[in-house]
Amino acid sequence: MGTAAKPTRENRTITVDFRDEATYFRLIKDGKAFVEFVLAFLLFLGFQLKHQASCRGGGCLTRHSHYARIRLGGVTIWRIQCTACKAVFTVLPHFVLRYRKMPPEVARGALLATHGGLSLERCAVLYHISPVALYRVICAFGRQSLVTVLTRCGLPLPPYFLADEKHTYCLTNKAYLPTIVSGRVLWHLGYTEDASAVALTQSYSAFQRAALQQEPAYRVRGILTDGFDSTTKSLQTLFPGARLGNCLRHALIKLPKKLAAIAPPVRRALRSQFHTLWSRARQRKGLRVFALGQRLRHFVDHVTATAGPANGARVRRWVQEKKAGWYTVLADPQMPVTSTLLDQAHNAIERKLFAMKGFHHPGGNQQAFLTGLAHLYNLVPYQRRAQHAGQCGVEVEGGRLPTRDWLLNLQILTSGGYQRAPETLYH
Ligand SMILES: [Zn+2]
Repeated sequence: MGTAAKPTRENRTITVDFRDEATYFRLIKDGKAFVEFVLAFLLFLGFQLKHQASCRGGGCLTRHSHYARIRLGGVTIWRIQCTACKAVFTVLPHFVLRYRKMPPEVARGALLATHGGLSLERCAVLYHISPVALYRVICAFGRQSLVTVLTRCGLPLPPYFLADEKHTYCLTNKAYLPTIVSGRVLWHLGYTEDASAVALTQSYSAFQRAALQQEPAYRVRGILTDGFDSTTKSLQTLFPGARLGNCLRHALIKLPKKLAAIAPPVRRALRSQFHTLWSRARQRKGLRVFALGQRLRHFVDHVTATAGPANGARVRRWVQEKKAGWYTVLADPQMPVTSTLLDQAHNAIERKLFAMKGFHHPGGNQQAFLTGLAHLYNLVPYQRRAQHAGQCGVEVEGGRLPTRDWLLNLQILTSGGYQRAPETLYH
């Protein structure tokens, strides 16, 4: 359930926006006009078709064959073929979802409700579909990687990013979601059943592989984490050249937990002094790192004087352990300073994870499901009263979208038959 066996043939389906159904039904009667329309749409997107690896192309396409989609009440679907490499592309009109009889308008409502945090079961009741059907639609979109979809929108691979794992449960098993965020978009949302450095490395390496496939020269300059040991180890292994920083906001949150058995006003006063230390360190640009080392030493002395030697020793050990990561953040002005945007992404995904519980079984595909949810996170526009109302995360980050319609964008951008045109053609 949930995972169809991997198709042996490469998925070369493409979704094309024919504007309205009448245009489509008119075009399918005229082979030449049909192929021309598809070519014009490709040109508009700035995409290319995914030909056979050996194909030198020429871009000559011919209408190849058609088949009737019985489940959809007999809509005729055309295939087109490259005359050079013989690769065959299935052209799906915008009003048909790949392999599904669910009309896009039903999928639109159900996906939006899921994205808003409603359980699959409730969404299914609202839209008169089965929860499994909705689960499968999300998984189907999730088969295309986040890196592919985001780079198709013209977003550059992130030189700096935030990385951390979300701890969650699948039925009664602990599970972890290794996550990479840059600004408002999720670049990776993985799934592992243990939190070892080996497991995390394996998950984060899926992002690395996809990124290097897009851009062989891709190098990560800086990564911000919350300092969890396995996370740091796995990222060091995968991106040996990257600076690893520790989140400064996390430092503020953690301090009170290091102070045991003291009166609340003393703890509050120390926290506020620690806060001042950070804001001053961030203002002093040139000498930031030097000044920070000195200030941290003074602060630890102050803790020892006001909260006792035991607390002083604990805070000193903690500062020793974390300060390299804090220095890294202050030393590079482009490094992200806090992991707030990653926490926001995790909070948004958390509301949907309850849905995983009912779908955790050997045949389920947690990875595809999570990637599907992450596509929604990146492509569904923010609601009217939000800060970036009407825009989606990809747009906020400066990406270009094929159309004004998020569901159609999701259909087009996750199509297996497209690939990004080489940049050289456009610069
Ligand atoms: Zn070809």
